Amino acid sequence: MKIAIIGSGIAGLAASIRLRHKGYEVNVFEANSYAGGKLHAFNLGEYRFDGGPSLFTMPHYVNELFELTGKQPSDYFNFEQVNDACTYFWEDRTILSAKSDPESFAKEAERVLRFPKNELLEYFDHVKTIYDHSASIFLEKSLHKIDTWLSKETLIALLKIRQYDLMKSMHRANMIRLGEPHLVQLFDRFATYNGSHPHKAPGILNVIPWLEHGFGTYFPKGGMEQIPQSLFRLAQELGVTFHFDSRVDEIILKNKRATGIRVNGVIHNVDKVVSNMDVFYTYRKLMPKAKAPEKILNQDRSSSALVFYWGIKKEFKQLGLHNILFSERYKEEFDTLFEKGDIIDDPTIYINVSSKLDKNDAPAGCENWFVMINAPHHTNQDWDEVSARVKKAVIKKLNRMLNTDIEPLIEQEKIWTPQGIERDTLSHQGALYGNASNSQFAAFLRHPNFSSSIHNLFFCGGSVHPGGGIPLALLSGKITSEMI
Ligand SMILES: Cc1cc2nc3c(=O)[nH]c(=O)nc-3n(C[C@H](O)[C@H](O)[C@H](O)COP(=O)(O)OP(=O)(O)OC[C@H]3O[C@@H](n4cnc5c(N)ncnc54)[C@H](O)[C@@H]3O)c2cc1C
Repeated sequence: MKIAIIGSGIAGLAASIRLRHKGYEVNVFEANSYAGGKLHAFNLGEYRFDGGPSLFTMPHYVNELFELTGKQPSDYFNFEQVNDACTYFWEDRTILSAKSDPESFAKEAERVLRFPKNELLEYFDHVKTIYDHSASIFLEKSLHKIDTWLSKETLIALLKIRQYDLMKSMHRANMIRLGEPHLVQLFDRFATYNGSHPHKAPGILNVIPWLEHGFGTYFPKGGMEQIPQSLFRLAQELGVTFHFDSRVDEIILKNKRATGIRVNGVIHNVDKVVSNMDVFYTYRKLMPKAKAPEKILNQDRSSSALVFYWGIKKEFKQLGLHNILFSERYKEEFDTLFEKGDIIDDPTIYINVSSKLDKNDAPAGCENWFVMINAPHHTNQDWDEVSARVKKAVIKKLNRMLNTDIEPLIEQEKIWTPQGIERDTLSHQGALYGNASNSQFAAFLRHPNFSSSIHNLFFCGGSVHPGGGIPLALLSGKITSEMI
C-alpha cells in the first residue's frame, strides 16, 4: 500500500514512522526545505535558538517510536529531567520557583505564598484524577469512533464527569479550589498551552499542569530541534522517502475517494493520503471543491505568539530555563487577544533560556533569550507596528522587574510574528494550536483523524484531534496510523 503524507511536522514524522513500520510505502511531501515544521532551529551569530516549542513534556511518546521499531532510543535522542519547572515573577516582587514534582512545589508555595501545602497537594490529586479518568478517552483515542464510547473505561469516566469541572471555566475552578491570587494566575496560565482564554476554557483543562508536574519537564540534549531531527533520522533509516521543497497543491479526488496528490504539476497516485497540514488549509487550498465541515473550520482559532529571539550579552542569575513575568491585568490581556485581536501594553512575558542548561547555545557570559508574548491569531494586523509597540512595552517591563537596562544588552535579534508563523508553517492565521478550546464542546469540535465523506483521507497534527502541542501531535500521529 502506498501512502502520501503532506507535511513533516512532528505528527507527520510520527505517522510516517508508524506506517512504514507496518510495511507500507511512505512518501512525505514537505513545502519547506527541512523537517519539523514549527519545531525548527537557527543561529544568530554565535547564538543558537529553537524557533518554536521550548517546553518538552511526556518524552515517552517520543521514545515509544524508537522502541516500536526495535531501536534503542538513546542511540538517537537523549534528554534530562529538569527540577525547576518554571520561575514565576509578579509585579509585587513575589518570585516563585515552581518545582516539577508536586511535593517540592507545594513546599515552596507554602514558604513563598503562605498557601497550605496540603491544599496544593489536594489540587494536584484532583487534576491527576481528571487525567487518569479522561486521558485515555480524550487524548489517546478517536472521539469519532463508536468503539471509544462503548468501552468499560469510557463508562467509568462518564460516571465521574461531574468531578471534571466541565461546566466551569479553568479560572472559576481555580478560584474555587485555590483562591490564592498568585496561584490562581499561575494555574490559569496553562490555558495558553492550547492557546485558549482561561476564563472561557473548560475546567477539565486544569489537567494540563499534570503533564508538567505529574510527568515532569525535560530538556533535550542538543535542543528541541533534536526531537524532529532524531525522528527524521529514524524515518529515513526505516525507508520513508522525504521530498523537500515540495508543496502539495491538490489532493486528487475521484468518486469521493482520495486517489493521489499533485506536487509541482506532477500527480502521485497513492492508496491513502494523510494530511499533516493545517486542516483548514487542507480543505480550502488542496480540495476547495469538496464539501468542507464548515462548523469545525469556522471555530475560533487559538492564540498565536510574538517571539523576540535575543542574543543577550550578559548572564541573569535570577532567571532559570523557563520564566514567566506576569501581567497584573491578566483577564484584560486575554480579552484583548480574543476580542480585540491586539496585545495590551503590559503583557505577560515568557522567557526561555536554553543556554542555562546547554552552554553551547550562547557565547561565554551571554544568554540566548526566547522571549514570547501571547498574541492574537493573524487577522491582517500591521505586525511591524505591533512588534515595535510590544517590544517597547516588554523592555519597559523587563527593566522594571529584573532591575536592568536590557536594550543595550541585545546584540542579536530576530522577530517571528503570527503572520510569519502562518507563512512558514502554513497554519491558518498563525494559530499555534489549531482551534481554541474556549468552550465546553471544543474537544468535539476538532476535526477527526479521518474524513467521514472522503474515503482514504486521514489527518494528523495540532489542528485536529486530540489537539496541539508536541505530546498531542505525537498522539494524533498514533491514532491516525492505527486507524489506517
Ligand atoms: C512559537 C511556538 C511555541 C510553541 N511552544 C510549544 C511548547 O513549548 N511545547 C509544545 O509542546 N508545543 C509548543 N508549540 C506548539 C507545537 O509546536 C505544535 O503544536 C506542533 O509542533 C504541531 O505539529 P504538527 O505536526 O501539527 O505540524 P506543524 O509543525 O504545524 O508542521 C506542519 C508542516 O506541514 C508542512 N505543510 C503545510 N502545508 C503543506 C503543503 N501544502 N505541502 C507540503 N507541506 C506542507 C509545513 O511546511 C510544516 O512543515 C509552539 C508553537 C510555536 C509556533
